Amino acid sequence: MAVVKAFGTPSAASPLAAFQFERREPGPRDVHIDILYCGVCHSDLHQARNDWGNSVYPMVPGHEIVGRVIAVGAEVGKLAVGDIAGVGCMVDSCRHCAACQRGLEQYCEQGATLTYNDHERGSARLTQGGYSERIVVEERFVVRVDAGLDLKAVAPLLCAGITTYSPLRHWQVGSGHKVGIIGLGGLGHMGIKFAKAFGAHVVLVTTSARKAEDAKRLGADEVLLSTDAEAMRRHAGSFDFLLNTVPVGHDLNPYAALLKLDATMVLVGAITALEPPLQGYSVIANRRRIAGSAIGGMPETQEMLDFCAKHGIVSDVEVVAIQDINEVYERLLRADVRYRFVIDMQSLKTGSRA
Ligand SMILES: [Zn+2]
Ligand SMILES: [Zn+2]
Repeated sequence: MAVVKAFGTPSAASPLAAFQFERREPGPRDVHIDILYCGVCHSDLHQARNDWGNSVYPMVPGHEIVGRVIAVGAEVGKLAVGDIAGVGCMVDSCRHCAACQRGLEQYCEQGATLTYNDHERGSARLTQGGYSERIVVEERFVVRVDAGLDLKAVAPLLCAGITTYSPLRHWQVGSGHKVGIIGLGGLGHMGIKFAKAFGAHVVLVTTSARKAEDAKRLGADEVLLSTDAEAMRRHAGSFDFLLNTVPVGHDLNPYAALLKLDATMVLVGAITALEPPLQGYSVIANRRRIAGSAIGGMPETQEMLDFCAKHGIVSDVEVVAIQDINEVYERLLRADVRYRFVIDMQSLKTGSRA
């Protein structure tokens, strides 16, 4: 066992603070990673504060991890010491069910093992995330990262990136499609970049007029204000695909009305009740579909990182020190971030912000 420094919380009511815990000894198929950067996902905050009622403590959050490989087990083939590696939202799964066999480990029939706020498979040991010095993960759940990319801006690809890449790929969004990205935050800004890179005509759908300029800088061709009833009418029935990144329950009906015949809206942000209720007519008209999508499997996560390396795609990030994480959470609640906070893990190792 190796003791590692981290930032974590002992309970839902406590702020995050310096914390130490033991990582498991690396096994023959494990990759031992020295963490360089860890993104800050909205779900870190929700789970640290037990907003979803399923939290286990003590908890070290963080599932957007980029680091350098410092050791590999004897059976590891795809990574070597010195390589740059990434770890996302899950670190294990059953490996045998239909979903796992298809490389869709996030839909494992027995439940994937989450990177933190979970237990290691067949063990009472808690999994602990990326707000820490090092992590030990089995090779299958580690991806290779091109060292030429801006590594701090790669970290959010491991959750926000794959969450938007996967549905755009699954529904084969591309050239000739008019695609709406609903909401411009950590997810939405990656949705715009990927949809544009796939060749679509990209429209940001937002409640906030002040986001228009930034959306265009990120690659959007148009901005549609969902608060402008006349503009919403003009765009009604015209979208081939909608990626809905809104992180809270909201009214789907006005967005559904934007879909053309047989088109689909995919939810990736909201996990709680969607209110007011969906009107049957909203989907009966135009034979519309409303679907959902969760992150991506390990093969697709690797495909995304390779795509990003080829096309120079990374997140827009603000780098912060681990010592400021509680203030960062408050800013996250105010949506005061463009578009993802990333912790420079050097701050944890040296114990200072500089
Ligand atoms: Zn996340
Ligand atoms: Zn499985």
